[in-house]
Amino acid sequence: MKTVYNESQYSKKAIINKKIESQNGKTLAILCKYYYFGKSKTKKEVLKLLSNFIDESGGSYDKRLLPDLLEKYTSEKEQLLDIQSVKITLAEMATIMSREDVNEQKVLYAMLVAYKCKNERCRISGMEQFLDNCKVSENFGEYFKDAKVRLGKMERGALLRNLEKDGLIWVDNDVKKTITLKYVDLEEDGVAIELKYFHDIWVDFEIYRGERYKRCECCGNAIKLVKTKQGGTPKKYCSTECQKHDKNEKNKRYYHTQSRI
Ligand SMILES: [Zn+2]
Repeated sequence: MKTVYNESQYSKKAIINKKIESQNGKTLAILCKYYYFGKSKTKKEVLKLLSNFIDESGGSYDKRLLPDLLEKYTSEKEQLLDIQSVKITLAEMATIMSREDVNEQKVLYAMLVAYKCKNERCRISGMEQFLDNCKVSENFGEYFKDAKVRLGKMERGALLRNLEKDGLIWVDNDVKKTITLKYVDLEEDGVAIELKYFHDIWVDFEIYRGERYKRCECCGNAIKLVKTKQGGTPKKYCSTECQKHDKNEKNKRYYHTQSRI
């Protein structure tokens, strides 16, 4: 499972879709922090909510492990990691779009987003030693996947060598296995794309390129816009679950304000 850069967003999606990611309890660990730090639930309430979540999502997690998980992820040194936004600058997009090959554009974009998310995470968690170093890990496969670029192994290698030859990246094949991005705009002058969701990052790039996409107003999932006959309004939500969830949230807010009047 990949790094989760906004744990509230991730939790909301997991709760709506009743989806448990894997058996190692990572979903539960993030949900635990979300309920405890984000929603100010008591430890007892969190335990109950996690237990219900396991039942609803059909997870195979051993509930006897929950008390230990609860103690670990509600400790003082834990925090809810919520990156609010990541900005790609005009200069960065100009470099990216100057590549003729659209696959190169997409991979450069995905690596840059991965770097900026990592940088924000370091800033929030106080890991200053890794700040602003323009390096990402050598997860080539992930960047191609994030960018939705489907190429064979040989073609991928050729694409990366091309980028390296033109001085856009530098691949360190030493022990550390990192890629240095040479097109990061450290001045951060002028914003071309501001990302607010950290899954399906290719959507923001497609929108920038003028493709007809938008994000679900509840969970941020990609929605492909189809041309409708006159006056059709585009869908707001990716699923009926999201529609229901947002309606419930709005009702809750409405009753909350009514009760205070
Ligand atoms: Zn949705």
